Amino acid sequence: MSNSIYDGRAVINGLRVSAQTGLTFDCISPVDGRLLAQVSRGAQADVDAAVAAARTAFEDRRWSGMAPAARKRVMIKFADQLLAHADELALMETLDMGKPIKYSRAVDVNSAANCLRWYGEAVDKIYDEIAPTAATALALITREPMGVVGVIVPWNYPMIMAAWKIAPALAAGNSVVLKPSEKSPLTALRLAELALEAGLPPGVFNVVPGFGPEAGSPLALHMDVDCIAFTGSTRVGKQIHVMAGQSNLKRAWTELGGKSPNIVFADCPDLDKAVAASVGSIFFNQGESCNAPSRLFVEASIREAFLERAVALMPSYAPGNPLDAATVMGAIVDETQLNNVMRYIGLGQSEGASLLAGGQRVMPVAGGCYVQPTLFAGVTADMTIAREEIFGPVLSVLSFTDTADVVKAANQSVYGLQAAVWTRDINKAHGVARALRAGTVHVNQYDEDDITVPFGGYKQSGVGRDKSLHAFDKYTETKTTWIRIDSPV
Ligand code: NAD
Repeated sequence: MSNSIYDGRAVINGLRVSAQTGLTFDCISPVDGRLLAQVSRGAQADVDAAVAAARTAFEDRRWSGMAPAARKRVMIKFADQLLAHADELALMETLDMGKPIKYSRAVDVNSAANCLRWYGEAVDKIYDEIAPTAATALALITREPMGVVGVIVPWNYPMIMAAWKIAPALAAGNSVVLKPSEKSPLTALRLAELALEAGLPPGVFNVVPGFGPEAGSPLALHMDVDCIAFTGSTRVGKQIHVMAGQSNLKRAWTELGGKSPNIVFADCPDLDKAVAASVGSIFFNQGESCNAPSRLFVEASIREAFLERAVALMPSYAPGNPLDAATVMGAIVDETQLNNVMRYIGLGQSEGASLLAGGQRVMPVAGGCYVQPTLFAGVTADMTIAREEIFGPVLSVLSFTDTADVVKAANQSVYGLQAAVWTRDINKAHGVARALRAGTVHVNQYDEDDITVPFGGYKQSGVGRDKSLHAFDKYTETKTTWIRIDSPV
């Protein structure tokens, strides 16, 4: 590990360990191409070791057997550890996946810590149930942890995506094996160390880095994993459900892709705000957000006014050095993803959309992966950039004249993660919100977000919901216990 800055070894049973093959892969920063770590290239044997550690920890009840109030205290300390190491984690996240330091510090670290704290606080406030049965019996309906939970996450919000799953899973008493994305493995490894320092017993939270087919598949196929919780692409998500079925029918939960429609009516309450939010939301996190409003439908009568304002905002999203506190648009996660984005920009042009801004690779920092925020107008529903998830800073603008038509067009997608509608007409707002097939619908804003609300999608955007108390459903089994009562009185 001579040239690397960070420790890339797995965390299994409370210890840093190399892959059993001894193999590593290079973790390269998209900020400037520097080597950050040589990361353990996890495979079947490492996953087996992590699952065995998690199983032992679960069975001997070192964590699952703790009173909920005791688990709560550890979860809150774990959250505090993140905040105590906020600068370190934010820097690591920015170097690893390229997002601006101001967001990794203010959003990612805080949001992950808040998630850990929230589920910790919740766990000793949830009561089980007694069924309203006949007096000859008592039927207890109790929640029990599932056992060993496998977690596989993507690279766009590495800490937050991990926290959304590990926080409810751990708080409920499960043991966890997490496989972070090979593109952004570093903060997950550090979280495992911070959890140990917070008092989480060894073996309860293990992290095995590696590539999807080599380390992810063995986890999804493992016969001793009770549940697999996945966030990533729809393509791999479908394979996760197949792997669950091919193995032990482990519970499988998937948070997948999106192509979220954003409908701006001519009677939106404030055109400037609608433009600013529409542009800001697609370019946040370099467009690498599953819920990015990437399909923008603007009513024809305000199309020109909208586009003029949108084009005027584009320079404020110019990519800059992610380590500079003023930067709002950072680096794309790696060369592969950058090439994907450039391919879609090429398709937009060749299929006849009008490129109003951006479209070029730029180099604010030598050796890094940067692309200009890109705006296409004149997009039609059949174009590739209107149908496929680009996962980059590319906004496709379509226009419409009829409400029923735009709702139909908005719903014409394999995805159903989020949607938005902008109007001052309360009937139209509720009517359109109700008709949109999406897990979340925003009205006259796109920013609201809170750990208290469920997050997930309809259709091929996945199965199940992260966040809120609903997430506990994914990591607990429901047990009914019938007790006979032969009353002496
Ligand atoms: P991806 O599907 O390529 O990878 C996600 C994870 O799956 C990675 O850890 C990867 O190593 C692993 N993986 C890949 N192949 C695998 C296999 N055969 N078996 C097991 N694991 C495998 O996705 P990505 O490029 O990392 O992330 C981008 C995608 O994630 C986008 O589609 C985005 O919309 C989605 N996403 C969804 C949400 C949500 O909450 N709905 C949130 C964030 C990202």
